[in-house]
Amino acid sequence: MTATILDGAAVARAMRQRVAEDVRTLAKQGVVPRLEVLLLGDDPASRVYVSAKAKASQEVGVRATTRLLPAATSAGELRALISSLNADADVDGILLQLPLPPPLEGRSFLDLIDPAKDVDGFHPYNVGLLHQGRPAFAPCTPAGIIGLLAASAIEIAGRHAVVLGRSEIVGKPMAALLLARHATVTTCHSRSRDLATICREADLLVAAIGKPAMVTREFVKPGAVVIDVGVNRVEDAALVARLYPGDAGRREQVERKGYTLVGDVDFVAVREVAGAITPVPGGVGPLTIAGLLENTVKAARRRRGLA
Ligand code: NAP
Repeated sequence: MTATILDGAAVARAMRQRVAEDVRTLAKQGVVPRLEVLLLGDDPASRVYVSAKAKASQEVGVRATTRLLPAATSAGELRALISSLNADADVDGILLQLPLPPPLEGRSFLDLIDPAKDVDGFHPYNVGLLHQGRPAFAPCTPAGIIGLLAASAIEIAGRHAVVLGRSEIVGKPMAALLLARHATVTTCHSRSRDLATICREADLLVAAIGKPAMVTREFVKPGAVVIDVGVNRVEDAALVARLYPGDAGRREQVERKGYTLVGDVDFVAVREVAGAITPVPGGVGPLTIAGLLENTVKAARRRRGLA
């Protein structure tokens, strides 16, 4: 069997088109959603994410401002900025790009963002609503995955979903969203024993652990749906050759850029046993940004009582 490839990029394009239509409708009512993105320091990966978010926002007509702040920004300065954006009635969404440069710790600042502007869905108020199964700003990556499953007509209710990883941004909200859609959910983490056996029971397996190609075919029940959230830079040419035998494109990437992006799933091997699978790149990544745009427009509507 060779798995169906779930085209996250195509689903994300459709989501963005819907958001653009929504923005045009709002514009007729005099509302243009505004997103403020805060980035501290010069972490290269964060810069790439932030500029992709700003570009995608502009493409759908959302006003996005990226504030590039020095790594040495103090806790007091960051608190004051968040507080002024909370108070600014023209701002619909606030996104604080993580991780923050040490010694600043993300959680204490995420807690300060007005829940009505919390488009990442990380504030405890929104997390609480999510776990109660009530409308909330769901974190963008798992919300995008739910969008992908829906667009691909993949049933969730009654199926056994195994979520590998229990982070606040992916694993836990993913499990909550699947539970709210009536899956039987098992969440695994670094202390779980006999992972392959647990994962092999999954009809739907979501891997979000940050370990390149750790999910091998022994983890996958024949016909299962496999969602690969992992984004890992792999520089080792020998490993890349083993994971992608005969793939000249991957080899060329490592030679040219010094790395290639590998998911948490051993894609080439697992594709032979799974029923459907997301690739890396082009699977979950684009959905995350589409989810952010949806949340931003939702925030603009809700704040003005237009929901
Ligand atoms: P994270 O905060 O580092 O959490 C990783 C989770 O995996 C933790 O719960 C950890 O368990 C678990 N884990 C680590 N090693 C494990 C092992 N050997 N066996 C079982 N569980 C293990 O990571 P994250 O932020 O959730 O991100 C996960 C991956 O998704 C990363 O590759 C990240 O780059 C990617 N990601 C992609 C997107 C996207 O848009 N495509 C968005 C977000 C994240 P403990 O809790 O016990 O430590």
